[in-house]
Amino acid sequence: MLRTSTVDGFVLLADRFGEIHKRVTLFTEERGILSAIAHGALKSAGRLKSLTELFLYGRFSLYADPVKESLKITDAECLRSFPGLRTGLRRFYAASLFAEIVLKSFGGGEAGRDLYALFRETFFRLDECPEPDVIHLVLGFIVTFLDLTGFELRGDACEICGRSIGATESAYYVKRIRGFVCPACRREGGVEFSPAARNYYRRARGAAAGDAEDLNLSDRALVGFKNLLYLVLQESLERELSTIATGKGFL
Ligand SMILES: [Zn+2]
Repeated sequence: MLRTSTVDGFVLLADRFGEIHKRVTLFTEERGILSAIAHGALKSAGRLKSLTELFLYGRFSLYADPVKESLKITDAECLRSFPGLRTGLRRFYAASLFAEIVLKSFGGGEAGRDLYALFRETFFRLDECPEPDVIHLVLGFIVTFLDLTGFELRGDACEICGRSIGATESAYYVKRIRGFVCPACRREGGVEFSPAARNYYRRARGAAAGDAEDLNLSDRALVGFKNLLYLVLQESLERELSTIATGKGFL
């Protein structure tokens, strides 16, 4: 591999490294997730300081140190910053959630390029999204992410008794069996997947991320669907997402 290279990508994490350096985690189209050190990036006069800020989209010059087996950011250029993420808590938490999904799915694995395209498009829209509509971008992102990783929400037949679930009755997701059951089989448990939510889900799968917002879903149905998606998302990743806990009330 060449020792020097250039990549375009998003800063997903920027942590202190030593006294004055930063460890930057980038999400790139060609190379997935990369971790690189930005030397001197915490010094107030450091040129890389503002160019390695969280969520910046930039072009990064990298140097691969063959001895230390590490990557170093030698230069950077801002392609786009997202001021809207700093002026709205919903936008900020949504951005944090998308970043955490990317990190915890290891960049989407085989679906990495598709996830990158989804991330990029959603991020651009998020920056200008009015706060009340952010939830639709979040749901659209998760629905598409689940599709990319081969996870479909099937609520059309009961996993226990096998009968088909009618268009006007709710299905219930039961964690224990990782599937949907009918009202009769659910006993006391299960997270509701209402007819309105199933309709929304179908629309969201067919639409570009966020276009499902024209669909009128009642607040109650929206919250129910959101809780169902958060549950299924975390099961598909086989881990909890801390942004969902810390962003409660905003996501
Ligand atoms: Zn049943």
